[in-house]
Amino acid sequence: MTSPSLPPPSPSPSTPTPPSPSPCFYGVLPTPYGGRGAFAKARIPKNTTILQCDGPYASVVLRKFRKEVCAWCFAWCFESAEGRKSSWSVRLDIVDGEVGPGGQKGKGGGGVIWTPWFCREGCRGDWVREYFWCGEESGSESLVALMNTLEKTLVAYRTAKSRPKSQPASTSVPPPHPFTFLDTWTSADVSESSIDSAWKMAEILASNLKKPSKILEVLEEWNAASAEDPRELLTEFEADCARFVLDGIVRQALQTQVAIAVTASPHTALGSTLAIDLHSGSTAATLPNAKPTGLWQDLLHLQNNELQHIRSKPYMLGVFIRVYLFLQYIVRTAKPAQRKRREGQVFGLNGNTAFIKRPAFLETLGMFLEATDSVRAILARDHGNVFGIWEKGLPHSEDGGREGEREGSGDDGEMFGWGMYVFGSYFNHDCTPTVRKQQHGRSLHFVTTRDVEEGEELCINYIDVSMNNGVVSRNAELSKEWFFECGCKRCRRERDE
Ligand SMILES: [Zn+2]
Ligand SMILES: [Zn+2]
Repeated sequence: MTSPSLPPPSPSPSTPTPPSPSPCFYGVLPTPYGGRGAFAKARIPKNTTILQCDGPYASVVLRKFRKEVCAWCFAWCFESAEGRKSSWSVRLDIVDGEVGPGGQKGKGGGGVIWTPWFCREGCRGDWVREYFWCGEESGSESLVALMNTLEKTLVAYRTAKSRPKSQPASTSVPPPHPFTFLDTWTSADVSESSIDSAWKMAEILASNLKKPSKILEVLEEWNAASAEDPRELLTEFEADCARFVLDGIVRQALQTQVAIAVTASPHTALGSTLAIDLHSGSTAATLPNAKPTGLWQDLLHLQNNELQHIRSKPYMLGVFIRVYLFLQYIVRTAKPAQRKRREGQVFGLNGNTAFIKRPAFLETLGMFLEATDSVRAILARDHGNVFGIWEKGLPHSEDGGREGEREGSGDDGEMFGWGMYVFGSYFNHDCTPTVRKQQHGRSLHFVTTRDVEEGEELCINYIDVSMNNGVVSRNAELSKEWFFECGCKRCRRERDE
């Protein structure tokens, strides 16, 4: 999960063939060695951008970097055009949970502990637009409410835990907990059915707990049964996974709301605007090789790595289920502060007045979480389908775009977070890649490293393929993290040497 990665080239007969993400340069076809890959439809010259992904479907900037890395373009303040800065200064202004126009310092008190930080006004505007729902502010407002609830819950738990208790902690053995077996189970226990039943248990447990606070108790008891002195409700990694999944579920909910509105009113101007929003989402999408964030269906087309991932790291299912239960609590308890005032707000659709109540967005989100499917679908594709967001911030050019680029495997420097670029995940690995990845702010570009002949497979590198990383060490990493042995020309040659 911590490396730029792609689905391993292993057979996946149950996965339907996805629509080709770029009709112009390549087709997504089965490979001779199993799985699928991207193959050039015609000769492609060197330095051609064969795909540009405008943004991730879901992403997370790690908590420790939240003031240093722009929430929108991922620029790093230490490499600001104005010189080294210790943090960005533009933040989303929040007044008692309400998303304001920004720039009004001093109003953001009232228990608000989370806000996205931006490198400049333009990025803030783009961020807000991304989560606004066609003029409604439900998306960004709800997202802020959710993120605040998430951070507050973690901080409140930590604070309570670090205070000495008035009563000595019970020394008795904690009662058996339904999920502790996940902390100690081994690869031999992992099967499709054992994973299914653990998820089912989590789903039933959560639906039986009518009071959200009971969910936190379950997590707390689970932690108590697993560790000596758990002072955190979630580990930092679990919390980042929760933020990542939440971002994906919010997008899924926004897309679903838009889809409902389009279905309700397909022929109105508003319906058309919504449809355009849903399917392009960006001006860059007018270019033939540019792809927007993608739809939920596009995400589902990505290879599901759940079984392989949990088999190689059995503790990961415990991580996944903690994330699911925690998000259940967050979605059930998050409340935008201005919810009451906005209740019953009128939202017109071609003369047919639809009443979009304030909590509708959160209710939609809650619906997605009743079953484990959405959370599970994202987590099952997280490993092997995400790209790291790396320390490669570059100064902004005059027009606000990122100028220049730094290439390479992307494995150098700090990783600020990760993102799932759904259309970028069809490229397989090769130790002499024909395609390189370039981070341009929020978007990810795929550029040919040499002339590629018609029918040749287009590959990137998932790991460091520099000359000082030999065939043995490369393959150790590939099999550990991506569950395959590389059979590329270079590996075959180096093995023979
Ligand atoms: Zn920015
Ligand atoms: Zn290789």
